Amino acid sequence: MNKKFIIAFDQGTTSTRTIIFDNQGNIQGVSQKELTQYYPESGWVEHDPNQIYNDQKDTFETVLKDTGISPEDIAAIGITNQRETTVVWDKETGEPIYNAIVWLDNRTKDICNKLKHDGLEPYVREYTGLVIDSYFSGTKLKWILDNVPGAREKAKAGKLLFGTIDSWLIYKFTNGKQHVTDHTNASRTMLYNIKDLKWDDTLLSALDIPKSMLPEVKTSSSDFGSVTYNNINIPVYGVAGDQQAALFGQGGLVEGIAKNTYGTGCFLLLNNGKDYVASKNGLITTLACSLPEQPKNYALEGSIFIGGASIQWLRDKMQLINEAKETEQICNDIPPLKDLYVVPAFAGLGAPYWDGNAKGAIYGITLDIGKKEIIKATVEALAYQTKDVIKAMEEDSGKPITVLKVDGGASSNTYLMQFQSDVLNVPVDRPKIIEITALGAAMLAGLKAGVWTKQDIASIREIDQIFKPEMDVKTRTEKYSGWLDVIRRTQTINKA
Ligand code: ADP
Repeated sequence: MNKKFIIAFDQGTTSTRTIIFDNQGNIQGVSQKELTQYYPESGWVEHDPNQIYNDQKDTFETVLKDTGISPEDIAAIGITNQRETTVVWDKETGEPIYNAIVWLDNRTKDICNKLKHDGLEPYVREYTGLVIDSYFSGTKLKWILDNVPGAREKAKAGKLLFGTIDSWLIYKFTNGKQHVTDHTNASRTMLYNIKDLKWDDTLLSALDIPKSMLPEVKTSSSDFGSVTYNNINIPVYGVAGDQQAALFGQGGLVEGIAKNTYGTGCFLLLNNGKDYVASKNGLITTLACSLPEQPKNYALEGSIFIGGASIQWLRDKMQLINEAKETEQICNDIPPLKDLYVVPAFAGLGAPYWDGNAKGAIYGITLDIGKKEIIKATVEALAYQTKDVIKAMEEDSGKPITVLKVDGGASSNTYLMQFQSDVLNVPVDRPKIIEITALGAAMLAGLKAGVWTKQDIASIREIDQIFKPEMDVKTRTEKYSGWLDVIRRTQTINKA
C-alpha cells in the first residue's frame, strides 16, 4: 500500500469540513466552511442541501490545493455527518424537493404524539432501539411527503429518494450512481430494524413511506462508491454518524468502551457488544460502527441536552466570564463547594430523566456564595449529569464501566476532567487528538483501504492524560447524593 493519506469529510450541524490525515493519523490539512442555519418558524431548523454539498466539495478541493497533496496519494475517503437530518430529492434531477430538516427541528411533535396514541411506542423501542421523538428522521420524512405538494404521489411512483446527510453527499459526489448509507445512520431513522438489520415494514406502513425511497444499508467500513477529482477516482470506504464515529475513533470497536463528547450537549455512548439490549433506564440502543466481520455492534446512548451550553450561558447571559476557558482557573482558585448545585435543566432534563418540563435551578445559596462558586457549580454539573447517564448504562449493560474516554470542547478543562474522575470513581482518558470524530471516519476508510489494520488503529489514538480518582469515598457519596436530591427537587414529573 503506497498511498499515504486518508481524507475525512466531517459534515456537522454548524460547519462542513474536510481533513487530511497521514498514515500515522496526524492531521496534514483542514478546510472549513460555516453552514447557514434557517429558522422559518419557532422550533423549525433547516439547512440547504445544495450548500452542504457545495461546501463539502469546496473544502475538499481547497484542502488538496492548500496542502499540495496529490489526489493520487489519497487512499480513501471516510464520511462522518450530523445524524438524523433528513433530505428528500428528485431521483431524475438530483434536486432536493425541500430543505434538509435538521435533527434539532421539532415540527413533527404532533406526528409523534399520534404514533404514541396509536400504541407504537413499545414496537419502536423493541425494533429500532429508540423512543418516538421528532429528533429521528422517520417523522421528518413523513412531514415532507405530507406537506410538499405532489410529493407523496411522486414517492409512490418511485421518483423520490430519501437520505441522511451521508447518503445525500454520496449521491451527489457519485453523480447519482450510489444511493447508500451505513448501519449507524440507518439506526437513527426510526425506520430501521436494528435486530435483523433491515428496513422495518411495519413502521414504513405506519408512516406511509414507500420502501423504494430508502438507501441500501452497508457496513460502515465498505465500498460506498467514489469521488472523482481531476479524473482520479478516490473511493469512499467509510461512513458513520458523528457520535458513532467518535466512539470508533476512541477505540470503541471493543465491547465495554464508553466515551463522552463534551460539546454544546454531551453525548455518551457505550459499546455494549453484539447482543441487543433494550434500555430499561431511559437510554436508547443504537448501532455502533460495523465491520464486515462484525456486522452487529450495539451501543447504549444517552444525551445530555445542556453540556458546554451552560458555560456559554455563564458567558453570554450571566456575563460572569469572558471566555469558556477561564472557568478552569476559577474552579482551581476556590475551595471545594459545600452543598451548592446548579441544575442546568435549561431545555428540560434529558437522559435518564426525560422530563421535558423541568427548568434550571440553583440550590444551596448562602451569604458567602459569589460568582466564582456559581461558575464552579455549573462546571461540576457536567460531571454529575455524566454520572447519571453512566449509572444508567451500567444498570442496562450489567457491567461496570472501567474507564471513560473523553473528547469535545469542554474536555480541555482539566479541573472538570479530574472532578469527573472523582465523582465517577473511574479513570478518565483524554486523547491527544481533538478531531476524534473525523479520525474515526478516517479509520473506517483506512481499514477497508488496507492502510491500517485493527491493531494499527488501536495505536493511533495517543493518550494526552489519564485522570485518576482522588476523592475519598465519603466526600464522593455525599456530593453525589446531594446532586440526586436536587435533581429530585427539579423534576416536575410525579409532582402534583
Ligand atoms: P460543538 O461541537 O457542540 O459545537 P465543541 O466540542 O466545539 O462543541 O465544544 C464547545 C463547547 O465547550 C462550548 O459549549 C463551550 O462553552 C465549551 N467549552 C469549551 N472550552 C471549555 C472549557 N475550557 N471549560 C468548559 N467548557 C468549555
